[in-house]
Amino acid sequence: MNDTTGTTTGTPTATDTTVFDVVVIGAGIVGSAVARKLASYELSVALLDARDDVGDGTSKANTAILHTGFDATPGTLESRLVREGYHLLSDYAERTGIPVERTGAVLVAWTDEELGALPGLREKAERNGYDRTEIIDSAEVYRQLPHLGEGVLGGLTVPDESIVCTWTTNLALATDAVGRGVTLLLNRAVRSAEDLGGTTVLHTSSGDVNTRWVVNAAGLGADVVDRLFGHDRFTVTPRRGELVVYDKLARPLVSKIILPVPSSRGKGVLISPTVYGNVLLGPTAEDLVDRTDTGTSEKGLEFLMAKGERLMPDLLREEVTATYAGLRAASDHPDYLIEADPGRRYVLVGGIRSTGLTAGIAIAEYVADLARDAGLALVSREDLPEPPRMPNLGEAYPRPYQDAARIAADPAYGKVVCFCERVTAGEIRDAFRSPIPPVGLDGLRRRTRAMNGRCQGFYCGAEIGGLLERRGEIRDGGDESTGGHPRVPLEARR
Ligand SMILES: Cc1cc2nc3c(=O)[nH]c(=O)nc-3n(C[C@H](O)[C@H](O)[C@H](O)COP(=O)(O)OP(=O)(O)OC[C@H]3O[C@@H](n4cnc5c(N)ncnc54)[C@H](O)[C@@H]3O)c2cc1C
Repeated sequence: MNDTTGTTTGTPTATDTTVFDVVVIGAGIVGSAVARKLASYELSVALLDARDDVGDGTSKANTAILHTGFDATPGTLESRLVREGYHLLSDYAERTGIPVERTGAVLVAWTDEELGALPGLREKAERNGYDRTEIIDSAEVYRQLPHLGEGVLGGLTVPDESIVCTWTTNLALATDAVGRGVTLLLNRAVRSAEDLGGTTVLHTSSGDVNTRWVVNAAGLGADVVDRLFGHDRFTVTPRRGELVVYDKLARPLVSKIILPVPSSRGKGVLISPTVYGNVLLGPTAEDLVDRTDTGTSEKGLEFLMAKGERLMPDLLREEVTATYAGLRAASDHPDYLIEADPGRRYVLVGGIRSTGLTAGIAIAEYVADLARDAGLALVSREDLPEPPRMPNLGEAYPRPYQDAARIAADPAYGKVVCFCERVTAGEIRDAFRSPIPPVGLDGLRRRTRAMNGRCQGFYCGAEIGGLLERRGEIRDGGDESTGGHPRVPLEARR
């Protein structure tokens, strides 16, 4: 294992002479899902990212809704892949332990115009293959969501919209990919691509990578990478979405996802519970130029506060735990842009804007079919390992600190180090021992929830920072801070 070169434990190390069958650029949800899928065939696959961790791009900062696709544009590739992705991710979540809560959603109409749009939305949902919506009157909306502000005129229920953990989704897919033999190459920004006829050399910030085929799942950078392969077919515009996270005490106010009637600018501002027990208000939709600007803004937060005041005044009286922003890879193309270039042995997966968390696994299926049609030989493997069982970060399922038997077997699960989120030393140790260990505090947050609570690391930050510094020692054996216990067999930890 080597944290700094970015080549992760358990995977073959790329040498200058290695020629992969496929390199997937981008270790977000989409790229990780594609690498995992391609590794189900007799292929050598690498998953490559410019950053030092998987899931550190748009996939870490979204609204975390598992969409049914009821409001997609019928007939588009996005509509199809979101619908399929909903079922594929639901099944995968069950197999791997990704937390999902089946909260359902209510689309709320506040004006006559919005009320008048509900039958059309219902019909649109049916054209998208989703027939379980129901129009309800304002009394029923208030019965289901008693804390909504005044002035609701009616609503449309979408009983299967759900909430999911985006961090665990990305990590599960990448871990599964690594378990299937994918080589993870981090800290390697692709700068240029040279076609040697049969082989492409990717010149990266940390050396060359040779490959027969390339899948470009570079999210916000997909258009730039696309140009390296001689194309000029779309431009990504980073569309910032800012969100406010409310304290867990707000959670009883919001039992379902509260959706606005969508507009041409996107899905609009919603209120949603999270699987961690918080409540989200957001996102905004603001086109930027800077593809790295994930900071929040005073203007954005003022806008959200004004919206929130109308939607649910009681929520605005609750404490704010955090704010964050994510950048959608919006493009000038109205649909997902997934195309193969057989001549360059290259597949573009672009324009995955606001639904990629849900659609990722279905996108991967589509990409594999497209690559096969373009000439990539796909021979199914007989020896696929089981998918990983992921640590549970969700409130709806037992957490280690609540599990007496688990604590008795391994007292590190009884030693809480982050009190707001009730994260134990055992979970932090497990993260260090996992196939894709965190290299920084942000990665540790995404794997354990540590420092994500009310105090945002004010009380536990120093201790957790210390654990991170000693991660090698903790990973390799018994350690005082984790309860002084030797490594517990995997089966016993699950
Ligand atoms: C505010 C907001 C709310 C959203 N809400 C939802 C939702 O509720 N439900 C849902 O399904 N979807 C939602 N989405 C959309 C979803 O988050 C994205 O579609 C999805 O995360 C995209 O994943 P990705 O893998 O394509 O991109 P990313 O996660 O951004 O991954 C791309 C990776 O490519 C890497 N990369 C880029 N250029 C290079 C290069 N040159 N060399 C090497 N690596 C490179 C980056 O470092 C990055 O890690 C939302 C998005 C936002 C912003």
